Amino acid sequence: LPKIALIGRPNVGKSTLFNRLIRSNRAITHDRPGVTRDRMEGYVKVGDRKFIIIDTGGITLDEHAAVAEGPDELRGFEAEILRQTEEAIADSVALCLVVDGREGLTPFDESLAAYVRKSGKPVLLAVNKVDGEEMADLYMAEFHTLGFPVIPLSGAHGFNVRAFSGELFDLLPPEDEDAPQEEEERPLKLAMLGRPNAGKSSLVNALSGSRRMIVSDVAGTTRDSVDIAVELGGRRYVFVDTAGVRRRAKIQDPVERYSVNSSLKSTTKADVTLVVLDAVEGLTQQDKRLIDLLDERKTPFMLVINKIDLVPRDGLTALKRLYDDALTFCKHVPIMYISARSGRGVDKLLPMARKINKECYVRVGTGLLNRTLTEAVTRHQPPVVKRVRPKFFYLTQAETNPPTFVFFVNDHERIQESYARYLEKFMRKRFEIEHAPMRVRFRSSH
Ligand code: GDP
Repeated sequence: LPKIALIGRPNVGKSTLFNRLIRSNRAITHDRPGVTRDRMEGYVKVGDRKFIIIDTGGITLDEHAAVAEGPDELRGFEAEILRQTEEAIADSVALCLVVDGREGLTPFDESLAAYVRKSGKPVLLAVNKVDGEEMADLYMAEFHTLGFPVIPLSGAHGFNVRAFSGELFDLLPPEDEDAPQEEEERPLKLAMLGRPNAGKSSLVNALSGSRRMIVSDVAGTTRDSVDIAVELGGRRYVFVDTAGVRRRAKIQDPVERYSVNSSLKSTTKADVTLVVLDAVEGLTQQDKRLIDLLDERKTPFMLVINKIDLVPRDGLTALKRLYDDALTFCKHVPIMYISARSGRGVDKLLPMARKINKECYVRVGTGLLNRTLTEAVTRHQPPVVKRVRPKFFYLTQAETNPPTFVFFVNDHERIQESYARYLEKFMRKRFEIEHAPMRVRFRSSH
């Protein structure tokens, strides 16, 4: 996708414009004191046209130094900031220079204008903080002297924002109809569930680092869904519905608002769900209910026990036993012990998510299905029920995600719960479905 970078000095309102364009608030702020903010990227989409907008939030340069040193002053900027900006400019097909309409044209803006002009790429000058047409006439004249196409707008109030995105699209090179469409692997979608303060946001941060990209819906739709996309080790992941993560994280009364049902919604959009629990807080009734529901609904999920940095070294074994004992009803669900803060164990999560997802799509051939049935029944005969021993005819796989297996038997009502569990366990081993949910059904046939 083509990229367009927003360039401008601090406080001209780049981030507000950026958020307007991608129609979301940044799900996660990543501002660390003393560190330049990471570059943010987001999709802008109108109809089936799309580009990526880059917010070079890092231009927190020393304004005075810049002014003092004249047009070549940019060399005097902090190396890291300059590198970020240069990288963004190099990556972009066009640039948008943002200035503050109320402050008027400053020498610093003029230096930046010279800088972006040197790139040879198309430039649009966005004059921000202008709230309406009357104001526009008043403020605009001096900005025309820079020689770029100019648009007045207000990121904060929305004035002219639609026209602005239209003009940005006009900067893009014409689409090449013959260009081969890249066939990309679908990203793995992950949802985070758990009580406020369990560490969901911290975990998304720990997993995605600075390479995040916010993906949101088409401009003009609601801000409800904020997804964060990252590419790690050549693979793409999307953390779905992280607006929800953030919203819930901010809620004051955790017990009141942690509704199991509303949490479940995001799991339906995800390939794999991570249930984040606080190691120190332990497992509440509510957590158990949530886990129970996920299990019942055959949701692919794992448990992530966070904050193990707060657990004393010799306490970890006891902790693990506690969770194992509490969760015997869903033995296939992996329990991961991590610290989002120290990073311990975090690197195991995405490989596990991929493994679960892969297992969801296992397809077992007829040969193996029949061999497995024979083997399982021979090893362990089904117990006699009402004086009749159940008889198995054959086994088929009806579905994937979750893998669903159907046993055809003489009378399905004679299959006991414990025998069904034995068969599931046997199949999990043979079919190598260790952590994904699995459905086992029995159907009467003659
Ligand atoms: P969320 O509400 O689930 O998104 O939780 P946050 O990510 O906002 O984290 C809640 C609090 O727990 C914050 O103060 C974090 O700094 C802290 N926290 C998160 N992960 C860890 C961890 O692994 N160890 C420790 N000690 N604190 C953590």
